[in-house]
Amino acid sequence: MPTLDDPVDGPVGQALWARADQVLPGGGIYYSRSADFAGRGVLPGFIASAQGCRVTDVDGRTYIDFLCANGPNILGYRHPEVEAAVRRQAEQQTSASLFPPALVEVIERLVARIPGMAFGVTSKNGSEVVSLGVRMARQHTGRRTVITFDRAYHGSDPELANRPPPGPLSDGVRDIVRLPWNDPQRLADHCAAHADTTAAILLNPLDQNPGLQTVAPSPEFLGAIRAAQARHDIQLVFDDVRHGFRLDPVGSFRPLGLEPDVAAFGKALGNGYAISALVAREHLRAAARKIFYTSTFMFEAPAMAAAMAMLEIYERDNVFAHITAMGERLRTGILAAAAKAGHAITYTGPVTMPTLLLADDPGGARLKIFARAASGRGAILHPNLNWNLSGAHRPEDIDETVAIAGAAFAETPGPG
Ligand code: PMP
Repeated sequence: MPTLDDPVDGPVGQALWARADQVLPGGGIYYSRSADFAGRGVLPGFIASAQGCRVTDVDGRTYIDFLCANGPNILGYRHPEVEAAVRRQAEQQTSASLFPPALVEVIERLVARIPGMAFGVTSKNGSEVVSLGVRMARQHTGRRTVITFDRAYHGSDPELANRPPPGPLSDGVRDIVRLPWNDPQRLADHCAAHADTTAAILLNPLDQNPGLQTVAPSPEFLGAIRAAQARHDIQLVFDDVRHGFRLDPVGSFRPLGLEPDVAAFGKALGNGYAISALVAREHLRAAARKIFYTSTFMFEAPAMAAAMAMLEIYERDNVFAHITAMGERLRTGILAAAAKAGHAITYTGPVTMPTLLLADDPGGARLKIFARAASGRGAILHPNLNWNLSGAHRPEDIDETVAIAGAAFAETPGPG
């Protein structure tokens, strides 16, 4: 039975780690996207190729993948129609001197999908568009403070990072107020007392953090958010970078009954190509026009073609219904497999983005053993990040994964 001292990486992967350890800084840099976040050797360190719902490591071992590149893979890796759209665009231009027409087309499409949104901006990463949304809210209100919640992750902008670096911080972090999730009274009191300095509420659709149960917002909490918008003109900046397209086909704010002033998308939007987007209501346009914002690669047209193809296929193939059905199948199977092996587990979060926790497992030590056993048998079931479903996970892939999870549970020690 493999142990945590026995890395899943083969000789090629281990040799690459030796080189990586020389030239990458390690530590916090890239941390949550490094296999080190799961524990060195628990998951393969390096992926050589990816197709559909499977990834192949540098030693040639293939895994059914439930990390989905931490979100971007929503249709399936290298979906043929997305790849064809990217190739067609790349034959015309990649990055050229002025705007590509695809910029207008993709923003038109995004704005048209969400009732009430008037204009938009594309960029390359989620962090950039979340920060831009915050800037628009500040510019519009003339106020500085931004309310966020508990450990909520909103990207790597040092001002917004949930784990501010230990070194000297800029004054900007003082303008971020962290309030408890699902405490409508605290939120209402804070907004009333600080209405003249509060620019925005920056919100994720769920409180979903590594190693913890996922908590949905309560109706009262959502009511307090709506009241802050209506009574105090506090702008709702909705961060749908992670959850967008996996909680609702339009936007995760819709089932919550929220009407964001500005909403940020990323991850799944380009099915693996680097594109994020911000869409905003008309009243923010004048503020947006005053902000200077650009960068060299924002205008790379193939990523825009990827996003347009993604949206087309996602809607045509009803991918949301598919990932919901596959997520339910996985949940049912994993719950049964855990029960059969005698493990008490919590399977938390939406079925399209679940998190597995073992009972009595402080620090997730036994979950790492489970994840190592699963990767040894050919499934990537990350112990610290929520899993993701994709349009390429077929029923037989789910059933194979459940069988792998059953064997991995059997190799996982019980508590104590
Ligand atoms: N917001 C949320 C909720 C996220 O999960 C992430 C990425 N994990 C980001 C923002 C930042 O996106 P990116 O890593 O693309 O900058």
